[in-house]
Amino acid sequence: MNAPIVVVKIGSSSVVTVDGRIDTTALSKLVTEVDVCRQSGWRVVVVTSGAIAAGLPQLGMSADDVRADDVLRAASAVGQTSLMRAFEVALAERSLLGGQVLLAPTDFMLRRRYLKSRGTLQALLELGVVPIVNENDAIADDEIRFGDNDRLAALVAHLVEARLLVLLTDTAGLFTADPRVDESASLIEEILEIDQTLENVAGGPRSLRSRGGMASKLAAAKIATWSGVETVIAFAGRPSVLPDAVNGVAGMGTVFRAKAQRLPARKLWIGFALPAVGRIVVDEGARRALEEQQRSLLSAGIVSVSGEFDADDAVEIEDTAGTVFAKGQVSWSSQMIRSNLGRRTAELEAGLPHEVVHRDDLVILPN
Ligand code: GLU
Repeated sequence: MNAPIVVVKIGSSSVVTVDGRIDTTALSKLVTEVDVCRQSGWRVVVVTSGAIAAGLPQLGMSADDVRADDVLRAASAVGQTSLMRAFEVALAERSLLGGQVLLAPTDFMLRRRYLKSRGTLQALLELGVVPIVNENDAIADDEIRFGDNDRLAALVAHLVEARLLVLLTDTAGLFTADPRVDESASLIEEILEIDQTLENVAGGPRSLRSRGGMASKLAAAKIATWSGVETVIAFAGRPSVLPDAVNGVAGMGTVFRAKAQRLPARKLWIGFALPAVGRIVVDEGARRALEEQQRSLLSAGIVSVSGEFDADDAVEIEDTAGTVFAKGQVSWSSQMIRSNLGRRTAELEAGLPHEVVHRDDLVILPN
């Protein structure tokens, strides 16, 4: 059997100091722990942020005053080089070799590129190299970029069929309230299901240096656990954090238990990676058919549609009470749906596929 894989993500605020230098002590701690895990039989993939945070100061700029995306992209190109140099030095101290892999969202959406990225990561692991992954920020398209490396790390975990995803950050995990403002906040050690209450607790993103925040960690945990990958959020500075995470040491962070079923890659990227460009409202019968009987969505159950989209675009599917409960890749354009609204299959124009969203292209979202 192949050695299990752990994907460990480290955030900008843990890799780059407040004055914009790469924190070589933090990198060397991480790499030492990567080495410990490798020696106990794990294969390790690192997902790192910090390119933009390390690049801006080298250009005499600060995260607070730059908003232009092309300048941020340029800064990432400068910072990524320094980041990799620092990783190379830290890895060499443990006689390890790193390999840079820069990924974009399309690498997960287009099957051919998905297989290529997976092949490269697998080859690196087989060669004993530590893959060091970041988003390809220098050419990131603002419309579809990940915007944070948490989600990227989760998709990578799916790609390599990791056993564990570890999101290292500047807090000990997920708390019942914000520990900076509420003294009674306590660490949540185990989460079986990510629901709306948890999402409210996690709140929104914070600063540019800590771009993801807890909300994006939860979103990442959702992707990973739906891929059958257990996820841990833990404090990057905690001694032996990575070995403790792979050994399942209690109380070392917040652990999200994986779903028993691994959602196929196609459904995962429809559900969590493809941006939705429209919305379809369905009646109660259709909702039940999709949710309980795993059927395809037919025009007869559609009440209304909003947005303009083409076949193959992703849309959200909501019930008449306005709850989005599914996401799917449509086989029909919005215009076709409008002109056939509510029609039964027998009444459809000739040549139309029967399903508006085929069951294989449909993901029921956690509520
Ligand atoms: N990819 C970005 C960088 O390296 C960071 C995104 C994030 O902070 O998650 O600067």
